[in-house]
Amino acid sequence: MKTQLIPTEQVKEAAAFIKKGGLVVFPTETVYGLGASAFNPVACARIYTAKGRPSDNPLIVHVSNEAQFSEVTGLLPPEAVALKKAFWPGPLSLVVPKNENLPEIVTAGLPTVAVRWPQSPVAQAFLESCGVPVAAPSANVSGAPSPTTFEMVKGAMLGRVDAILAGEDCAEGLESTIVGFVEGRAKILRPGSITPEQISAVLGCTPADLVYQPPTEGRPVSPGLKYTHYKPDATVKLFRSFSEIKLEEVHDHKVGLLLRGDAPTVPEGWEVLVFDDWKTYGKSLYSSFFDLDRVGCTLILAQLPEETGIGLAIANRLKKAAGV
Ligand code: AMP
Ligand code: MG
Repeated sequence: MKTQLIPTEQVKEAAAFIKKGGLVVFPTETVYGLGASAFNPVACARIYTAKGRPSDNPLIVHVSNEAQFSEVTGLLPPEAVALKKAFWPGPLSLVVPKNENLPEIVTAGLPTVAVRWPQSPVAQAFLESCGVPVAAPSANVSGAPSPTTFEMVKGAMLGRVDAILAGEDCAEGLESTIVGFVEGRAKILRPGSITPEQISAVLGCTPADLVYQPPTEGRPVSPGLKYTHYKPDATVKLFRSFSEIKLEEVHDHKVGLLLRGDAPTVPEGWEVLVFDDWKTYGKSLYSSFFDLDRVGCTLILAQLPEETGIGLAIANRLKKAAGV
């Protein structure tokens, strides 16, 4: 398939593909999304094929106004209304009852829909032009890290989609925080750059109240949680402090090192990426994986943050990438 590369000023051209049932990759503040009209089941089926995504893993629907939001949702729990008011537009997806008219393929048969109103001006302009809610998972081949730069997304999606809306690097660089509701109470199904501390401050609860306990039997509430994710080609190993690394155990590898703070002294030939703070580390995580793979690293040693604030989302992605 020929993929048209479209500059960000020409969102209308990209939206025309969506209206015709096509697939368009577009930038958001979290990661690049792979979009199709949420009300076109044939186009949505093409998303699963383009990504190699398991058919039981539902899509997040992106909206850019209240009317589009009402088209895809049913009756909202009061806590969803409060979170929507506090954080939208922004990197938060809410899992709420679906509208009966929304095709089953979008929600993989679930009675709920994950929906988000992105903040990125390019994403908003694109969604406005589409005039329909757009179902869009991350624009990676299933299992790989999500693309956060134009270069990454071209590598992943050229030849698989009708068009790519070329954009800037994604401002957050990590997928949205997903909040679902169990008996009306908010639970974080996937951590992201909106933190448990921020959410609990809005709802008047504690961060611990937001912890989701998956059922021991039956279908998990968020099907995507069970799949391998975010994995670069290189093996990923995690550490908290550089002193834990035993050099004799890694000397067979071309090593990439990701850490926050000051650059340590390392053996010759290592690729070292140092970030001033965890926010920047998180924003650059997937593009760092991409860059380290490209220069031939076979082992990525990545520093693990404390699991509070943005550290919770970073640690979640790192552990999946490392398979631990
Ligand atoms: P992605 O768009 O690639 O970031 O993945 C979307 C994530 O949202 C996956 O982990 C899905 O399982 C999750 N998701 C989408 N729809 C629902 C839903 N109705 N209920 C729970 N989780 C959902
Ligand atoms: Mg994804």
